[in-house]
Amino acid sequence: MTVSVDVLILGAGPAGLSTALHLTQVCPRLTPSVLILDKARHPRPKLCAGGLVADAEILLQRLGLDVREVPHMDSLAAHFDFAGRGLSVRVPKRHALRVIRRDEFDHWLAEKAKSRGLEIREQVTVKDVRPDSDGVTVITDAGEFRARLVVGADGSNGVTRRCVLPNAPVHTARVLEVLTSTESVVAGSNDRRKQAAFFDFFVVPRNIAGYVWDFPTQVQGEPMRCWGIYDTNLLAGESRPPLREPLAEEMSRHGYALNQHELKGHPIRWFDPFDPISVPRVLLVGDAAGADPLFGEGISIALGYGNLAAREIKRALETNDPSFSKYRRHVLASPLGGTLIARWLIANFIYTLKWKWFQVLLWRGLKPVVILTAWTVVLNWARRLPIPK
Ligand SMILES: Cc1cc2nc3c(=O)[nH]c(=O)nc-3n(C[C@H](O)[C@H](O)[C@H](O)COP(=O)(O)OP(=O)(O)OC[C@H]3O[C@@H](n4cnc5c(N)ncnc54)[C@H](O)[C@@H]3O)c2cc1C
Repeated sequence: MTVSVDVLILGAGPAGLSTALHLTQVCPRLTPSVLILDKARHPRPKLCAGGLVADAEILLQRLGLDVREVPHMDSLAAHFDFAGRGLSVRVPKRHALRVIRRDEFDHWLAEKAKSRGLEIREQVTVKDVRPDSDGVTVITDAGEFRARLVVGADGSNGVTRRCVLPNAPVHTARVLEVLTSTESVVAGSNDRRKQAAFFDFFVVPRNIAGYVWDFPTQVQGEPMRCWGIYDTNLLAGESRPPLREPLAEEMSRHGYALNQHELKGHPIRWFDPFDPISVPRVLLVGDAAGADPLFGEGISIALGYGNLAAREIKRALETNDPSFSKYRRHVLASPLGGTLIARWLIANFIYTLKWKWFQVLLWRGLKPVVILTAWTVVLNWARRLPIPK
């Protein structure tokens, strides 16, 4: 038997849950006819360093949610370095970065969605998405679903984009991550790094268009470090070392041995302003639409897409126009679009100017310019999104 609803959201990560939570605020009477499907069951593992910038917290607060309920670790400073030296950022009276674990954060968000009357069907894997002139048929391993509108929130490897936009260009970053204890074999190393997050861009002159990170985190209350390497693939045509090599090198500089830990990888689909993000009756949010190309930061971005998608769905239902023909334009013209375009431009600029002298100048010599740019066009966009009501 086919299950029919008004809005079907494919994926219960931050993008899908944010879309659903915003819908309960902008269009409360729709709540009983919104259904969220996910192939996993929360709490589910999700490879992610879990760094939450202030914009993510603002979007959650505006949904009436307090992320401090989720176990977290705060980074009081964030360092942006080239080969161990660069600039350090502190935010007066608050943390620079809050770090959560995604199994806990996404589970918490899913419980909040349920408590607001939203239905999530877990362990349902979407296989195909087929829009037609009257609605959308979604084929899953648990039967067929039919909806007036569908939201593709199934992440970087999701099926929605592949089904509805099979020929659209794909831009993906390579990302590796490893968790370690805080015990470094280099005496004193951990004390300095304990409460700080590090981004090191020494990999750029080696044709890896990204950085190595090292964040404080916790796993079941136990303090840990989360290390990783991000490569936008913007220099994919050049000769590059295997991605794990510079990560191992950076970890060993701080007294950690990569080969003693489990290394995991996952791609991040990143945003390009020219990519399509909807077809009639189906729109994409979160990684399915495109995360931040500059840092691969996608949690605040996913939450922001939810704000805009809910508004777009409300408009489509009120005007009886399910074409979503203006969705991309509305995203690009929004504060979320503003930060994504800025990050796309900056990534294309700083990762392709890969000379060592330029990277040294950027991270060590141009502190006021970098901080001003970060403050004005990379961060502080969420406050300018419309308030959900
Ligand atoms: C190693 C790594 C480190 C990262 N670190 C950070 C960080 O520190 N800070 C940050 O902001 N971002 C980070 N990111 C990016 C961030 O994880 C993503 O941008 C974010 O998860 C996007 O949210 P989403 O809801 O779009 O997708 P997801 O979180 O991927 O959620 C998609 C959901 O869809 C479900 N799904 C997928 N396919 C199907 C299917 N066929 N049927 C049904 N359900 C399906 C999945 O089970 C999942 O629950 C990192 C990413 C990686 C890979």
